[in-house]
Amino acid sequence: MAVRRVTDMVLGRVGSVLVDVVYPARCAGCGRRGCWVCRDCDAALGRFAPPWCEGCGTPTGLGDCVCSSLPRSLSGLRSVGRYEGWLRHAIVRFKYEEEWARADHLSAALAETLRTWCDLDALVPVPLHPERQRRRGYNQSALLAKGAGKLLAMPVLRALQRIRATPHQVGLRAEERRRNVQDAFAVSSGANLVGKRLVLVDDVTTTGSTLGACAEALLAGGACEVRAVTLARET
Ligand SMILES: [Zn+2]
Ligand SMILES: [Zn+2]
Repeated sequence: MAVRRVTDMVLGRVGSVLVDVVYPARCAGCGRRGCWVCRDCDAALGRFAPPWCEGCGTPTGLGDCVCSSLPRSLSGLRSVGRYEGWLRHAIVRFKYEEEWARADHLSAALAETLRTWCDLDALVPVPLHPERQRRRGYNQSALLAKGAGKLLAMPVLRALQRIRATPHQVGLRAEERRRNVQDAFAVSSGANLVGKRLVLVDDVTTTGSTLGACAEALLAGGACEVRAVTLARET
């Protein structure tokens, strides 16, 4: 319920007015008032844009494509940009400092990145374990999925559950991360995924192990293809 209340507040019209009062917008990069990111900080980050690798969304000429390190259960990845600059600060505030008022702005960035994929059936947020969600009060990925889904007129399926609490991935190596999230996700009862093309939504990906484990569960549940979109990418 807490998530629904927060989501309604963030995305509802009355809620938006309240949000403006309680959380006045500030640039995540430089702190300038009146916007969630200013033009200078946005330009300094450089959002990922075509031409890019069709698989992992790495812009041409911007370092190596990471397709070979993506989990095999994922058919593609898109991210707004690297986990640095204003985007990193915005995610940290959104996720750990309760600045959920950033959801609309970050959802719009995600939707923009997703627009080039037009053959999708639904968005699926990466779930938090119920205990972690209770402590945080909301699931940041669900807020992002709801906002982006609204902008793209795409359904959001809460098709996954985290059935095992997993320690934080921070500081773990790739193989440890993969083991850490193995079998941590299951398809929610009643979710009909058969033949669907789905996009997982998360805030940050590092090695893709969480997204890979989620995609495995969705494929096992009948989805025909799973891709992923994240705000930021650490690699
Ligand atoms: Zn700025
Ligand atoms: Zn690639």
